[in-house]
Amino acid sequence: MTKTAEAVVIGGGVMGTSILYNLAMRGIKGVLLEKSNLGAGGTGRSSGLIRMHYSTEVLGRLAWESFHVFKDWENRVGGDAPQFIKTGFMAIAGPDEAEGLRHNLELSKRIGVDTYEVSLKEAAELAPAFEFNEGEVVAWEPESGHGDPSGTAMSFAARARELGAQVIVESPVTSIETDGGRVTGVNTANERYESPIVIVAAGPWTPTLLSGIGVDIPITCTRHEVFFIKRKLEAVPNHPGGVDVANLVYFRPEGVDLTLVGNGNVEQAADPDNYNPKPTMSYLEDVWLRLAKRIPGIADGEFFTGYAGLYDSSPDEHPIVDAVDGVDGLYVCAGFSGHGFKESPAVGACMAELVTGGAAKTVDIVPLRMGRFKDGTLNTISYKFKVIA
Ligand SMILES: Cc1cc2nc3c(=O)[nH]c(=O)nc-3n(C[C@H](O)[C@H](O)[C@H](O)COP(=O)(O)OP(=O)(O)OC[C@H]3O[C@@H](n4cnc5c(N)ncnc54)[C@H](O)[C@@H]3O)c2cc1C
Repeated sequence: MTKTAEAVVIGGGVMGTSILYNLAMRGIKGVLLEKSNLGAGGTGRSSGLIRMHYSTEVLGRLAWESFHVFKDWENRVGGDAPQFIKTGFMAIAGPDEAEGLRHNLELSKRIGVDTYEVSLKEAAELAPAFEFNEGEVVAWEPESGHGDPSGTAMSFAARARELGAQVIVESPVTSIETDGGRVTGVNTANERYESPIVIVAAGPWTPTLLSGIGVDIPITCTRHEVFFIKRKLEAVPNHPGGVDVANLVYFRPEGVDLTLVGNGNVEQAADPDNYNPKPTMSYLEDVWLRLAKRIPGIADGEFFTGYAGLYDSSPDEHPIVDAVDGVDGLYVCAGFSGHGFKESPAVGACMAELVTGGAAKTVDIVPLRMGRFKDGTLNTISYKFKVIA
């Protein structure tokens, strides 16, 4: 059966739902098609860190604009607000990465982020359970923390529905239709949706969908493990969130006595339709030992649970947020590696501005255009230090 839609958004992660909501706010009542359930992709496996420490301006600004939304959801979006938990965020670099950390710090300050370098003595006061070593450099973001990625997708979807959009789950898009250089709609197993606007926000599945109409997009997937360790509260009562580039781990507290830890040193190419979502015990040991170099008291904790999720990444580890050249009305929003959750409110606004007005206003997203892989103007992370979640 053929239906019509003002716009079709493919994918019910934080990006698709944010785009749907932001379009609805601008008067476009779209239809979101999700093959499984909301948050079924990277969104449902995200560690949820919300911080602004980045090495390029475009990502720093997307995170900063989004941060205001997370902190003031009731007024900015409305409806049921997903949780935002302020823990502070610490970026720690060894001597070799110090220059990169300071570059990121200056960039963040220029954007307006409340962040500054702290001495090792001050860092130890902020995080008494941590051990610091001579020559390490520490940046502190007092206002940062973490949020609830699936809850964020649910909340965007609920608000979009209230504004007249539709969210249809268990409805995989099987193909995109084009005619004479413009998009005309999409097909699912049982329906055909005719629409002049189609936005592909299908995370790791984006290249497959686009390859069906001959559009190549350089996004590949890697598998990343995340673990939860139950702390002994007498050894580590609490700690801030952070990234430790010296030991290649990122972490944050969860609830009262759990610590989430992810890693930055193992990436395995993965097939999104057939990857191992379970944690591996040998790798747990490796990550745990590295975390214990920073938080010695965590060595006596207990393994609680773990899982693996997929990062969808482009060659310069920046997403692609753009109109697709040569196919009018078709847009792509994917390739967010390990950092899309915290950028999703601003990305949705930028995409809606691009669709309705031809250019994004919230943040200049020209560095995220699709053509950069052809013309060679890739984003460069020119310092050794780059953050990993
Ligand atoms: C382990 C892990 C930890 C992370 N930690 C952080 C973090 O701490 N902070 C942070 O900011 N970011 C983090 N990220 C990254 C962040 O979670 C992702 O960048 C973000 O969730 C991507 O959202 P998305 O909407 O682009 O994609 P996804 O969430 O993958 O959503 C894509 C959706 O498209 C659907 N879909 C696919 N094909 C079709 C089809 N044919 N038809 C219909 N629907 C389809 C899928 O089912 C899926 O629901 C992490 C990611 C992972 C995996």
